[in-house]
Order: sequence, then structure tokens, then C-alpha cells
Amino acid sequence: SESVSKRNDARSSAAFEEAKKYIPGGVNSPVRAFKSVGLTPVYIERGEGSRVYDIDGNTFIDYVGSWGPLIMGHAHPEVVQVLQETAAKGTSFGAPTLLETEMAKLVVERVPSVDIVRMVNSGTEATMSAIRLARGVTKRDKILKFEGSYHGHGDSLLIKAGSGVATLGLPDSPGVPEAVATNTITVPYNDLESVRLAFEKFGEQIACLIVEPVAGNMGVVPPQAGFLEGLREVTERHGSLLIFDEVMTGFRVGLNCAQGRFGVTPDLTCFGKVIGGGLPVGAYGGKREIMEQVAPSGPVYQAGTLSGNPLAMAAGYTTLKLLTPEVYDRLETAGARLQAGFEKNAQEAGIPVTINRVGSMVCPFFTEGPVVNYDSAKNSDLDLFRRYFAAMLDRGVSVAPSQFEGMFISGVHSDEDIDATIAAQRSALLSL
Ligand code: PMP
Repeated sequence: SESVSKRNDARSSAAFEEAKKYIPGGVNSPVRAFKSVGLTPVYIERGEGSRVYDIDGNTFIDYVGSWGPLIMGHAHPEVVQVLQETAAKGTSFGAPTLLETEMAKLVVERVPSVDIVRMVNSGTEATMSAIRLARGVTKRDKILKFEGSYHGHGDSLLIKAGSGVATLGLPDSPGVPEAVATNTITVPYNDLESVRLAFEKFGEQIACLIVEPVAGNMGVVPPQAGFLEGLREVTERHGSLLIFDEVMTGFRVGLNCAQGRFGVTPDLTCFGKVIGGGLPVGAYGGKREIMEQVAPSGPVYQAGTLSGNPLAMAAGYTTLKLLTPEVYDRLETAGARLQAGFEKNAQEAGIPVTINRVGSMVCPFFTEGPVVNYDSAKNSDLDLFRRYFAAMLDRGVSVAPSQFEGMFISGVHSDEDIDATIAAQRSALLSL
């Protein structure tokens, strides 16, 4: 059935038609086009705190948060101020600046497994670079990833990918050479037995296993007890590197990231999103002896004209500094409040909804559940999701336009925001 939104979207619709003439699909990243929910994208005019304002005059309580980075909300005054001050001194030099070292120190302090860290410009770059490094140091070619996990759009990683690939129901992407694809092994998330079997068969050839320590690109799927520990054990046994892709979870699920929260130590970690505070940033880091293999200290090449960019470092550093233990407590409380409200609503509406949550990452799946991997996430009623999404927009709540993405609560969503969201969700569910 058609999803119909009742909000005024005349300007957004016109803007989208114009954009489609000049930009593929009208957008610079696929899921933004709202194709899978059959609607016109919301064109944003501005954001402030927990809200975004569109060009048609609608206001939304926002749980997209730029797909994760905006953990302290939109246009946080301290972030805006530091950006203004930094920009006034020049936006890029391609030469080292003091802030890069400050930023690296902060990451090293906060993240247990990271001795040393390299800045890049996106999560995609971080994972591509970490994979190259793992292959370079182990002198092996194969990698193992999980079905429905998304690690950016690098060739090796665009196999059985989640996020937009899952949302659009695309098969593995054309343009990825067969020779590259055959080196990527995929197994179901939370399935340690399959991981062990893959390692029994290919162990000698596997450079690394890359995992989202909380899966966030098939909706939100927490690691089951023992899963991450098992991955640590099996990779170690076979001389493969364990890479945590913390692009989404890094500094989101805790002060010390997912690895701090779950107490499992990877060899390498990838970052993005929160670490850039809303500017384009990624990073990868880990054990010193591995990271020292990166150029110029080692032979594995990786570089970037804008890497460690002053504006990006300023926004990221300021954001990380704002993230105190109290903020994480707040995110936990707000997350629990939202989850409890949503669960009550679903019960009242008589709609089977499974709510998965880790801290401020929340995902209502339209299925009986449990949702433990991509296959069970795909049991969700996508048509119901589409109608739910439109109903939420109509009630002034912005969530990601996909069942395979979570909601991101920020440290500036108030209890009033959360309660208004629960009320909107109740009304939305009852309208279905
Ligand atoms: N890894 C994970 C876990 C992600 O969620 C994403 C983006 N959603 C990426 C990598 C890619 O990051 P970017 O979009 O910054 O390239």
C-alpha cells in the first residue's frame, strides 16, 4: 500500500525535482532520497538542539542526528563557536597542527585498545584503510564480515551489506570485481559456530574479521553474550586481526566505546560519525606495532589531502570533550524511557514490535522477534514500517527512513522531547 504523508512538502518536492536534474537520484547518499518509503525527502533548513526545521516550515524532533554524529544535538553552541574561531584562522593547511595531536591523545586516552591513531575523512576510508593494513601485516587476502553489516562502500566490504544496500534491497553492487568479492567471507551475525567453521576452512588465509560490536546497519542488533569474546578468541587462534568497526558505536554507546562497554579488546578500531562532531571525519587506530606499519613509519600506504583538517578536528575534539560520564548516564536513561514508552504503545496498539536497544541506539522492528541477525531483521513488516515512518513525520518526529537503521538519541533530547515522541508514536501506531 502507498505511504502517504499529510505534512506540507510543496517546497521539498520542488527542490527534489530540481536536484534530480543535477545529482544522481537527487541526493549525495542513497537513503536520503526516501525511495524505499515512497516519499519526498525532507529538505532541511536548519537544526538546533534536538530539532530540525524543514524548508516547508515543519519542525521535527530529530532521531537521525545526521545518521549518528550529532550526539550533542544540532548546532551545539560550543561546537559552533570553536568552528567559527578555527575557520577564521584558515580552513586547511596540509601541514601538521597542534590540535591533531590533542585529538589523537584524547582518543588514545578514551579507547582501551588504541595506542596510536590515524585520522581520515570518513568511516569508509577508515575501514578500507584498516582492511589494507590487516592484509599488509598478515600477508593474507581474505576477510570475514557479517551479513547485513555495513562498513562503508569499499569494494571488499560491499558484500551482503546492510544500511542503504539492505534498505534498497540491492544485490551486491556491480563494479566490485569478482576477484575482490571472492576474498570476502560472510556469515550471520551472532553466529559463533559459523565463524568457527569459516576459520577452520580458511583460517590460514583470513587477514581479519571486521565486526560492528553492536550491529547498527540491520536496525540495531546487540551482540549476544559471549559473541565478541568468541570472535576475539578465534581470530587470535588463527593469527587473524580482529577489527571493531566502531564508526557508529564509537563514543556513542559509552565513554570508552563498545569495546569498553563489552570489555573485549580488538587489534584495530575504526571510527567515524561522533568523532567528527558533524564534520567529515574517520579514524583508525590500535596496537602500536600494527599501526606503525602505516606510511610513513611503515610500508602500507594511506594518505589524505584533508586528513586531520582543522575544522573537523575542532568539531570532533569539542564534541568528545562534551561527552562526560553524566552525558552517557543521560543517554541511557533517555533510551530506557523511550523504549518503555514504545513497548507500552505497541502493546496497546496490538502490533508486534520488537525493540532492540543499546544505550542511545534504539530500533523498533515490526516483527515478533527476537531480532538477532539480518535474517530475523528481514522478518520485519516493511510495508508497516513505511506507513509508520510517514505517520511519524506527520506527527513531527524524524526517524531514519528505513527499518534497517536505528534511532539516535542525543544528550540534548529532554524528557519532554522523549515523552512527546512516545505520544507521537502511540498516535502513529494507532493510526496504522
Ligand atoms: N561503518 C559503519 C558501522 C557505519 O555505520 C558506516 C556509516 N553508516 C560506515 C562504516 C561508513 O561511514 P561513512 O558513511 O562515513 O563513510
